[in-house]
Amino acid sequence: MAMNCRHVWDHISGYIDGTLSAEVRLEVERHLAHCEICSAILDSTRNIIILVADDRVFELPVDFSKRLHARLDKVLSEEPPEPA
Ligand SMILES: [Zn+2]
Repeated sequence: MAMNCRHVWDHISGYIDGTLSAEVRLEVERHLAHCEICSAILDSTRNIIILVADDRVFELPVDFSKRLHARLDKVLSEEPPEPA
């Protein structure tokens, strides 16, 4: 089973939290190994979480989720992933 970008995005928070099953995690890692888009998204998502955790604020911008999805949509529209 090969994941496309949207599958990876669905799992990315679980991937960071370490809550994915070993099987799903392997598929995500396999995709990240060759997909620059998803690697960049993972990096930026991680950076946001690390910054928040370091400040011990645990406060996300109110539109964080909205902006993340807008960003994903923008990336997707600019460079479509492999056809499903
Ligand atoms: Zn991807």
